[in-house]
Amino acid sequence: MAKLIINLRKYERNLHFLSDLLHQEDRTIMAVTKVFCADQHLVDVINATPIEYIADSRIANLKKMKTSKSKVLLRIPALSEVDQVIDCCDLSLNSEFKVIEALSLEAKKKGKTHRIILMFDIGDLREGIYYDSIDYHQIKRIKNLPNIQIEGIGTNITCYGGVIPSVSTYRKLVEIKTEIEHRLNLKLKIISGGNSSAIPMLKRRELDPFINNIRIGEAFALGRETAYGETIEGMADDAFLLSAEIIELKEKPSMPEGELGLDAFGNPVSFIDRGIMMRAILDVGKQDVDPSDLIPPDGVEILGASSDHLLVWIKEGQVKLGQNLSFKLTYGGLLRLATSPYIEKIYENL
Ligand SMILES: *Cc1c(COP(=O)(O)O)cnc(C)c1O
Repeated sequence: MAKLIINLRKYERNLHFLSDLLHQEDRTIMAVTKVFCADQHLVDVINATPIEYIADSRIANLKKMKTSKSKVLLRIPALSEVDQVIDCCDLSLNSEFKVIEALSLEAKKKGKTHRIILMFDIGDLREGIYYDSIDYHQIKRIKNLPNIQIEGIGTNITCYGGVIPSVSTYRKLVEIKTEIEHRLNLKLKIISGGNSSAIPMLKRRELDPFINNIRIGEAFALGRETAYGETIEGMADDAFLLSAEIIELKEKPSMPEGELGLDAFGNPVSFIDRGIMMRAILDVGKQDVDPSDLIPPDGVEILGASSDHLLVWIKEGQVKLGQNLSFKLTYGGLLRLATSPYIEKIYENL
């Protein structure tokens, strides 16, 4: 069975590496758990760090996790789930007045105060109130809702639009902060300035101190920033590995024989003739992971996959039938493998 090998100590080291850096600059951190489905072993590693918040985009994940950290819902809540948000989240990210109104009603019903972070879109075009059409009267109305506390503001970049954080992009957010604090006579506690794509600016010491909170998923898990996709020096990029077993190993041609139609997924095929090659089949497929999200070991090239078979070319080195090959992962690779019920999770250094 193909396995996701999770090295808890490497994940822990990644958490400490970046959180030390952020805490030295008096910024708080939200550790994001969605890429590994809020696996409790990893949540426990976060629990043992001084990281302030734990965040996920799925209510189901926040509901099941055991933690004493403040729980943050990252995906803006659906109108239909505000009751669950009040039940299991301490904070949520929001951009719709109607939803916040509903949260207020529900919180009042339950005798709670719900804290929100108002999201602003500064150009990446995912969630948030668009920066150049802000209705400050409406924000005043939010402030006056009972049982809702505006804890801060936030923005999300390099998610849909691929916008790379920069001094000029963040200038839009600082203007919003200043306007809100002035017009509403309110001190915003949290200015949540983004995700793993903010790390290059952080390392260059260009991240303005007004951004006092960062939400990090990918960099903790894979040691990679997401502005340029580079591995961060000093961090592990192998805390999560796919290990899959060779179930067939044979020399075969590189060109299929006969009239060619479509592959198993209905896509047209094309091949380059590289002569006879050593081909291995591994026990993992597209149901578990997209082959383009796997980073093969040296001497191995990925040829393709069907739903349950991964085909690789053994270009160099000796391998044996029954042997496991290890692959490093992209974000998408880890996300899907962690979600697949067919992938066994193995924890190292428990
Ligand atoms: C997923 C998510 C993050 C974490 O992003 P990474 O690139 O994994 O660090 C941060 N904020 C929001 C709103 C998210 O949905």
